[in-house]
Amino acid sequence: MPRIGLVFASGLHDFFNSGTWQVIRNLALLFVVIFWAATAYWVYKDARRRIEDPWLVVMATLLGAVVPFIGPLVYMLFRPPEYLQDVRERELEIKAMEERLARRDLHCPVCRAEVDPSFLVCPVCTTRLKQACSSCKAPLEALWQICPYCATPIEPTSTLELPPLPAPRRERRRASE
Ligand SMILES: [Zn+2]
Ligand SMILES: [Zn+2]
Repeated sequence: MPRIGLVFASGLHDFFNSGTWQVIRNLALLFVVIFWAATAYWVYKDARRRIEDPWLVVMATLLGAVVPFIGPLVYMLFRPPEYLQDVRERELEIKAMEERLARRDLHCPVCRAEVDPSFLVCPVCTTRLKQACSSCKAPLEALWQICPYCATPIEPTSTLELPPLPAPRRERRRASE
């Protein structure tokens, strides 16, 4: 038994001192170095797609390169969850949706008919939508202090001077009930 063990041990010793072992060790080392470089490069590429601040990209790449294999893992845990391009696309989509909503908001408050921003009165139910400028007759927004078209100051009392409008039909029906 001990003899076989001795033979085996000397065989191992010969093997580790042989050229084959050197080659295998160098190949393994080369593989580890290539893998390390690849993970560092991956961190750089991924960080550029996710992080806007160039300094943070540099920091992430350094973390990925200086701390082999653990650095990229740590980066993966803390990287931003979305690509910059996706964030930008979503922001554009939200903006477009808001614009669509704002356009759709132009409805008569009483009958919900679609109205133009230039309408003074709802053509469907005759509800007064806006006040007209006393000098140029342009439709005025409720918050405006002065007519933007002819620079005539808007009298806050002029709203009271408007002729009383007939109550919308729906309200009248409810009152008669
Ligand atoms: Zn209406
Ligand atoms: Zn005006």
